Amino acid sequence: MKIICIGRNYAEHAKEMKSEVPREPVFFMKPDTALLRDGQDFYLPDFSNEIHYEVEIVLKINKPGKNIDEKFAFKYYDEIGIGIDFTARDLQAKCKEKGLPWEKAKAFDGSAPIGTFINKKEFTNINELDFKLIKNGNTVQEGNTKNMLFSFDKIIAYVSLFVTLKTGDLIYTGTPEGVGPVAKGDRLNAFIEDKQLLSMNIK
Ligand code: MG
Repeated sequence: MKIICIGRNYAEHAKEMKSEVPREPVFFMKPDTALLRDGQDFYLPDFSNEIHYEVEIVLKINKPGKNIDEKFAFKYYDEIGIGIDFTARDLQAKCKEKGLPWEKAKAFDGSAPIGTFINKKEFTNINELDFKLIKNGNTVQEGNTKNMLFSFDKIIAYVSLFVTLKTGDLIYTGTPEGVGPVAKGDRLNAFIEDKQLLSMNIK
């Protein structure tokens, strides 16, 4: 399986990163070795002094597809979850400065924690979902999917123009504003609406 991540999908986050608001989706990938399941601990790596959390709604692809029409894109995912796109912000800044790819900063081991998935039918409207990240008891990020620049269906249509989607692939759909650092001993809890779907420790 592969992990596809959408960058700059919330205008307020693009602004806080001093990045342009994109006209078409920006995406990059992480390997399956980035996954952290079932609330596994995240160990801070030695190669970075600035690991940031980015809480994101995640779609799980349920069948193969290529060149998917936006109006049929909803048929390609039944389950949604919440995950964190850990980013080595210091390395990313260097990559950006030199115009280099972001993999070192984004695709490292453990950089994609993922919580429990639930059927999208459990929500009234997935295009208007509240989600949040709590660090050590304080809410640090709050988003609503209505603020995405590109909807779930648009993302699927766009990505599948370039990359064939396969069953089990995950799409991290971008983070709202409020990204920040994690430190040893932190505890992260992530929610969609009132459901806590991810809980993990930083070691
Ligand atoms: Mg992200």
